[in-house]
Amino acid sequence: MKRILSIILAVAILATTAAVFASCGGNADTSSKTESGEGAKELHMATNAFFEPYEFYEDKKVVGIDPEIAQAICDKLGYKLVIDDMDFDAIIISVTSGKADFGMAGMTVTEDRLKSVDFTDSYATSTQVIIVPEENSKVANAKDLEKASIGVQLGTTGDIYVSDFKEAKIERYKKGADAVLALTKGKVDAVVIDSEPAKKFVEANDGIKILDEPFTEEEYAICLAKDSELTEKINGALKELKEDGTVKKIIDKYIGD
Ligand code: GLN
Repeated sequence: MKRILSIILAVAILATTAAVFASCGGNADTSSKTESGEGAKELHMATNAFFEPYEFYEDKKVVGIDPEIAQAICDKLGYKLVIDDMDFDAIIISVTSGKADFGMAGMTVTEDRLKSVDFTDSYATSTQVIIVPEENSKVANAKDLEKASIGVQLGTTGDIYVSDFKEAKIERYKKGADAVLALTKGKVDAVVIDSEPAKKFVEANDGIKILDEPFTEEEYAICLAKDSELTEKINGALKELKEDGTVKKIIDKYIGD
């Protein structure tokens, strides 16, 4: 009996170990193949693929402005691009710990982030906007926001920005889509998020709109570990891709004029 028990135990341990190893290969169906030759060195890009049009899933593949620009950079530098999808607030840790080579996620350059990572030159600009219910909105302008209940995506500049409002109630969600869902259900008065994903959310959900209010201007860039040798290389490739119109072409493909 004892023997049978230990065999069962051994089999169970083996099965668990196999399952753990299998789940570690987390980027299997999000990896993106490059045109660069077989055996090319990989560059891992940390992102959060729920941020259309910058990164989102299409047929189980991560597509969007960031993957396309990253692919063009990797093609220029001769690397194979591998995309690792994770929560937005895990990206910087992933880069500083060396798990990922760079982070690209519609990520805004901020003073605070610059304390832990380096950023490349900017490749796009953005603003934070306020999404509210189309009718009977408690929030009509940025001033009203200061006393409202606000949904944001955890760790984003929207989160950082509204965290200064002492009288507001901040609800933090893992995904922007969850914040928008809370808004459509009346659980929060407003959502603060980047302008382009905001447009996509408003297109996809009835009864919400973006306020016509000028808000923060932000610059998107790629983050890398401090003093990484890759920063200069990526900046060089990015410069060429900006100068030859590739970056603009990619952005226009997803955003239009
Ligand atoms: N631009 C925002 C930031 O950097 C949001 C990015 C995102 O949610 N992917 O914080």
